[in-house]
Amino acid sequence: MSVAGTAVRINWQPRPDKAKLGLVEDGFEFSASDIHAGFLDRETLHRILAAQSAQNIETIRRAAEKTLLERCGDTVRLRGLVEFSNRCVCDCNYCGIRRSNRAVKRYTLSLAEIVECAQWCAAKGYGSLVLQAGERRDEKFAAFVAEAVRAIKAETCSTELPEGLGITLCVGEQSEATYARWFEAGAHRYLLRMESFKPALFAALHPREQTYAARREALATLKRLGYQVGTGVMIGLPGQSLDDLVDDLLAFRDLGVDMIGMGPYIPHVQAPLGGADQIGSAQARLGLSLRMIAAARLLLKNVNIAATTALQALSETGREQGLRFGANVIMPQVTPVRVRSQYTLYDGKPCLDDNAEQCCECLRKRIESVGRRVLYQAWGDSAHFAQRRALAKA
Ligand code: SF4
Repeated sequence: MSVAGTAVRINWQPRPDKAKLGLVEDGFEFSASDIHAGFLDRETLHRILAAQSAQNIETIRRAAEKTLLERCGDTVRLRGLVEFSNRCVCDCNYCGIRRSNRAVKRYTLSLAEIVECAQWCAAKGYGSLVLQAGERRDEKFAAFVAEAVRAIKAETCSTELPEGLGITLCVGEQSEATYARWFEAGAHRYLLRMESFKPALFAALHPREQTYAARREALATLKRLGYQVGTGVMIGLPGQSLDDLVDDLLAFRDLGVDMIGMGPYIPHVQAPLGGADQIGSAQARLGLSLRMIAAARLLLKNVNIAATTALQALSETGREQGLRFGANVIMPQVTPVRVRSQYTLYDGKPCLDDNAEQCCECLRKRIESVGRRVLYQAWGDSAHFAQRRALAKA
């Protein structure tokens, strides 16, 4: 079998002699060149996720890193993260700021505060920011987001960024008219996570009124409107199998998404999903999350993939490890410290007390410690999106 002229050369012959000696725990041995050049079918993806031996994991990591460097370069793109409101009309079963959680003190930043965060990002050369909030669908909210996007664009223009900061929105399911309004205002990327592409698992994570079909439809609408579209899943959910995660990877590919934001499932003590007793150790979930990043890089090649903050909640070096396994985006916290602790979707969220200045310096050092460079003064768009647009024009 061949794909785009590339012959399948992955050798999955078990090595019983080595396995018996305990040299290769998985009972097979990956070849870096084969993973890199080969076609990633279901079985291969499954084996990548299941890999346990240090030797195989390092081979997978190197192959993912090689693909990243060849297809996206060595830069890490920064998106200053502004969590501008924790008010939400939804009741996701895993989330600490869900509507039903009365223990949360609710807040919404003012327009001036949001613009101040954006100007700080621009001054630091971040190039892009993410406006993230709980989900609301009222007209007041839609108008506020449009106004915030326009104000950020107007207040962050510079010689290097004549159109101002690049803006990613992450504010949930909305009507097509609202998505179009925000696109018109100047937002050009949208992150809408599925959390799981398995309908039964999606249903376990969400109340009945939040449907799988509506979320899939929203992703299609965003793409049709011209956004760079991102999605993602949680890794290590109660009841989730490796096969489910393989389905998630194949869904990313089939949807043709430009960006991926995924991370380990971490329970929140005030959310009903729980399952802390079923999800294995932090180390195991971190390892699986890193192999998911590597598998996504190997399968999708030129998309942007975030090393999410949740990785760092499981390990002090979680985000750097994410970069080493194929991620190329980091979202430094720029939300004002006074409200940051009120935006906790999961327990143990890191960087709650560091101010944006500390986060900025800390991240630069972390990125350089793994041999990568920060991309300053650029939007850092997804190469996959550029390819998609070129194909559409051809
Ligand atoms: S995950 Fe998002 S949409 Fe769901 S309850 Fe939390 S903030 Fe709201």
